[in-house]
Amino acid sequence: MSKTIIIFFGPPGSGKGTQAEMLAKKTEWKKISTGDLFRAEIADRTKLGKLADKYLKVGKLVPDKVILTLVEQGLKQKTSGFIFDGFPRNRRQLNDLLTIFKKALKKNDRVYALEVAVSDKEVKQRLGQRRVCACGKVYHLVYNPPINQGVCDICGGKLFTRNDDKVKVIIYRLKIYRKVGEPILNYWQKFGKLIKINGEQPISKIHNDIMEKLKQLKHDYH
Ligand code: ADP
Ligand code: ADP
Ligand code: ZN
Repeated sequence: MSKTIIIFFGPPGSGKGTQAEMLAKKTEWKKISTGDLFRAEIADRTKLGKLADKYLKVGKLVPDKVILTLVEQGLKQKTSGFIFDGFPRNRRQLNDLLTIFKKALKKNDRVYALEVAVSDKEVKQRLGQRRVCACGKVYHLVYNPPINQGVCDICGGKLFTRNDDKVKVIIYRLKIYRKVGEPILNYWQKFGKLIKINGEQPISKIHNDIMEKLKQLKHDYH
């Protein structure tokens, strides 16, 4: 059976996590979210978590070598597809991923980059009002609020603000994305593997757009 691999791109706050989660639910493909993996390690106070925390706090990228081990572990899961959220984030990580794909992928497997395009202004608006739960569920105070204020719909946990969602850190993360993340989209564009989505629409509309694009791809190929 062939595999599909979808790699989400977009600035912090573009809705990658939200959309990756919805896509994973619908397709049963496995989601590999490097940010979530780090936050889990930090919560568990592992050695890796302690190291990663120093970077996440200030919005810097965790060293590439550390990421690679996590990604390779994630790719061992049995599934008909993977959804990447937050990786690769620079040229070096892209090269590492391409090396892994070369070894692991078969001829009929398909890889696509999916860009969720959102302006800097919208990013700041969204991240300023993002609230999260320890279980991983993400909310927005206005656009995607929980049923009961301050409480997670899924697990009843208390919602909190991520400690990297502070204005100064948001601006820094955005700068890194524009400088070293966005340019690697050229690679996918060159090979006709880039799917662009307008990220400034309601959450459900973006999800529908993504499903439509994926259906079209299937059609082209079979
Ligand atoms: P956002 O969803 O706001 O873009 P993420 O949850 O993807 O944020 O990432 C949060 C932080 O985790 C990043 O600022 C960075 O410190 C770290 N991180 C996540 N993925 C990577 C990666 N591929 N390379 C380096 N650092 C990463
Ligand atoms: P990313 O993973 O790219 O950092 P998230 O999925 O965490 O982005 O979304 C960032 C914030 O914006 C969250 O508070 C989320 O609820 C909200 N959000 C996500 N998609 C949309 C959308 N299409 N319109 C408005 N708010 C959104
Ligand atoms: Zn929860």
